Amino acid sequence: MSKMKVLMVSAEVEPFAKTGGLGDVVGSLPKVLNDLNLDCRVLMPLYGKIASKFKDKMKYLGFIYIDLGWRHQYCGVFSLRYDQVTYYFVDNEFYFNRGNLYDDLDLEKFSFLDLAAFEVAKFVKFKPDVIHIHYWHTGAIAALLNDHYRHQDFFKDTKTVYTIHNLAYQGVFAKDHVLDMLPLDKEKYNNTHIINLMALGIQYADKVTTVSPNYANEILTSQYGERLEGLLNHESNKLLGILNGIDENTYSCENDKLIYHNFKKQDYKEGKLENKKALLSELGFDVNNSIEAPLIAVISRLASQKGMDLLLTIIHRLLDQDVRVVLLGSGDKFLENEFAKISYYRGDKFRAVLKFDNALAHKIYASSDLFLMPSAFEPCGLAQMICLQYGTLPLVRACGGLKDSIFAFDENKLEGNGFSFDNYNPDDFYNTIMYALSVYERKELWNQVIENGFKCDFSWLKSAIRYKVMYEQL
Ligand code: ADP
Repeated sequence: MSKMKVLMVSAEVEPFAKTGGLGDVVGSLPKVLNDLNLDCRVLMPLYGKIASKFKDKMKYLGFIYIDLGWRHQYCGVFSLRYDQVTYYFVDNEFYFNRGNLYDDLDLEKFSFLDLAAFEVAKFVKFKPDVIHIHYWHTGAIAALLNDHYRHQDFFKDTKTVYTIHNLAYQGVFAKDHVLDMLPLDKEKYNNTHIINLMALGIQYADKVTTVSPNYANEILTSQYGERLEGLLNHESNKLLGILNGIDENTYSCENDKLIYHNFKKQDYKEGKLENKKALLSELGFDVNNSIEAPLIAVISRLASQKGMDLLLTIIHRLLDQDVRVVLLGSGDKFLENEFAKISYYRGDKFRAVLKFDNALAHKIYASSDLFLMPSAFEPCGLAQMICLQYGTLPLVRACGGLKDSIFAFDENKLEGNGFSFDNYNPDDFYNTIMYALSVYERKELWNQVIENGFKCDFSWLKSAIRYKVMYEQL
């Protein structure tokens, strides 16, 4: 029997381009699906900023033209076989050779990507059984299949799966602008001035998944539904929550080439100490004075979703304790300024590194003691699973995927892999940090939590099997 063919389409794919969890997910799931005997291929933009070590190995397959309304646009097609997965890259420098992945041309360039997904599939003769689309950027693909491509023999049996990674980013645009680019059925939009591209994905895909079981329930409520709870409830029979996994080779204390010192999980005490010394030194802290103090880390987009306002509210209280805190993040300018100021005034204990730096992120994961994620909402969250691979304990607000993956330490049963609090308020957050620090003082208990964390299985296999079963049911 021939293998089931799945075409994933995404704006971000690690290791080629990533700004957050989307890149991690689409960068790691296809390989595991292929191990499960599927033929999963990935299509993404050929961004100018993709490293030349990848570009140099790509094969040029030819070019086609994509018609975006009245625009007739060149689309180069490249491919690369990397780590057991075939990638297709769509090239148009006007759209994708720009400074940032995201900017004010998003609607047009992702409309181009969405149409290219169909045209390139035909061009390379990869007839997908399933097109699996991600984020708002590719939501329109489900509607395009329904309104336009379904009539073509090539796509007559194709099904679509839409994955919601974060309901906060929906891709809402003026109707006229969307219809100026995409061949959608205009009649359907007579009563609206806007088109919500995520909503198109939810409405027209055959199956809708989101990145954790708990978030799949939360988004049916007005607290977390971001005004799409009505539609989501209507479509709830096709909604499924599947917890993201992480690539355990990329995030591995033993094999990670980006950290200072590799160590085996059995030898984590020494291994972590070596890494901690190196990071404290790189950050310019006095290592001798700082080594005993717990090193608390935050690696995050600086956005209100991530609970950074809670952190700002408690940071001075926290820095009055014997702690060192490092924050790696970028985003919201107000938050960047506030953390920069705190770095300036409280340089004895606090460092803010305000940029996106993958290598430094790995070093921080490996070197820290406690990792903070006080999110207001968190569809899945990867950082809490990543830090556990290095014996760094997560402290999270119990919501979304954080609730599915982190279980508060119970001193009596000696169970749990981190710390958590329920209510989104600064005092609960602060008190939970204080509790975690009290456990840090009792080293056998702290080490117990680290060891519990090492035993957790966050690999993709379980979740990939669930995706495979779902594709087959379609
Ligand atoms: P989200 O996708 O909402 O940003 P996730 O926890 O799912 O959150 O994924 C975030 C990913 O991005 C993790 O791999 C994390 O390490 C990485 N990351 C976030 N901010 C930075 C940064 N400033 N520098 C490097 N990596 C970062």
